[in-house]
Amino acid sequence: MKKAMITGITGQDGAYLSRLLLEKGYEVYGAFRRTSDLHLNRLKYLGVDRAIHYLPLELLEFTNIYKAIERVQADEFYNLGAQSFVALSFDEPIYTTDVTAMGPLRVLEAIRVLNPQTKFYQASSSEMFGKVQTIPQDETTPFYPRSPYSIAKLAAHWATVNYRESYGLFACSGILFNHESPLRGLEFVTRKITHGIAEIQHGLQEKLTLGNLNARRDWGFAPEYVEAMWRMMQQPQAEDYVVATGETHTIREFAEHAFQAVGIDIRWEGKDSQEKGFDKKTGKIFVEVSPEFFRPAEVDLLIGNAKKAETKLGWKPRTKFQDLVHLMVEADLKRVSDSRY
Ligand code: NDP
Ligand code: GDP
Repeated sequence: MKKAMITGITGQDGAYLSRLLLEKGYEVYGAFRRTSDLHLNRLKYLGVDRAIHYLPLELLEFTNIYKAIERVQADEFYNLGAQSFVALSFDEPIYTTDVTAMGPLRVLEAIRVLNPQTKFYQASSSEMFGKVQTIPQDETTPFYPRSPYSIAKLAAHWATVNYRESYGLFACSGILFNHESPLRGLEFVTRKITHGIAEIQHGLQEKLTLGNLNARRDWGFAPEYVEAMWRMMQQPQAEDYVVATGETHTIREFAEHAFQAVGIDIRWEGKDSQEKGFDKKTGKIFVEVSPEFFRPAEVDLLIGNAKKAETKLGWKPRTKFQDLVHLMVEADLKRVSDSRY
């Protein structure tokens, strides 16, 4: 039985990856950071919370990482833990760098010393492309990070490459474009929209207040993206891969489709922070824009080319944009309704 250790076990990808690895017969070690409450809600949602061995692992604390790696002696180590919210990284740049850049470096260093045969996966991000230098972006595109988060991710990406090249570790970096699901954190725009719409439908919220509606993202479905992570780790040689759908949509489009899923057509009026989204039928305002949600520097356009992942890993995205939006709205409608009644 192979042993896999996952940091960020309580997050979106941690939950889907755990389910996938358990289905494949792995023994899964879920590394969590200690808080007042070990929140297993995502793992419970997928029905896998009881099948995991839990162990504390704080990415800020080297001795703690060292002991966990020594204890488990994993075959595969997936580093998904991070301060993962771009907007917060502008308010907490030093903390973000410590967790998101130094954390993986601490893990790599412990693996190098204790267990160099452990394969290492780093959760890198399309945010590293930032102010994009080519359209679409692939493994050869130069990076241009635009936030403390993406600068930290880029440092971790290069540390991964460097440990592979310097010490021969099996260390790979998955440059994943945005991937969403009903388990996505509520602070991210997709879930903020789908959950908000479910609350509006249940009379718990009046409207959505969003930031930049013009930004474009390449959004895929998270369970398919964790499959790509696993495939990278099964290759004869460690390499880096872009994982994306190759389609891009604005936040405005996401909101439009999400409202359509509950039978509401949105009409837009105004510009920039004066823009509003009205219900075409009733004229009621359902979307407002607030500068509060704008970022000091924005990533305007992300669109990935995952040809390498398709050719080498046999990986392809399956869920279409519109289906993703609909399934997220459906899940939130059910969740809000279940928690209400
Ligand atoms: P989440 O925000 O859902 O999960 C982040 C996880 O990291 C949580 O389990 C969190 O624990 C844990 N964590 C945070 N700080 C620490 C710390 N100091 N020590 C240990 N663990 C910590 O992210 P996702 O699941 O969406 O993403 C997984 C990874 O992939 C992240 O690294 C993210 O940056 C990256 N990524 C994600 C993309 C996406 O679209 N989802 C795109 C590209 C990259 P807690 O629950 O206690 O907060
Ligand atoms: P990111 O790509 O990791 O930053 O994912 P997010 O979901 O946080 O943001 C995606 C894009 O949506 C960014 O360009 C944001 O500026 C934009 N956006 C617009 N309104 C909002 C909002 O209310 N919340 C968030 N999180 N992002 C928003």
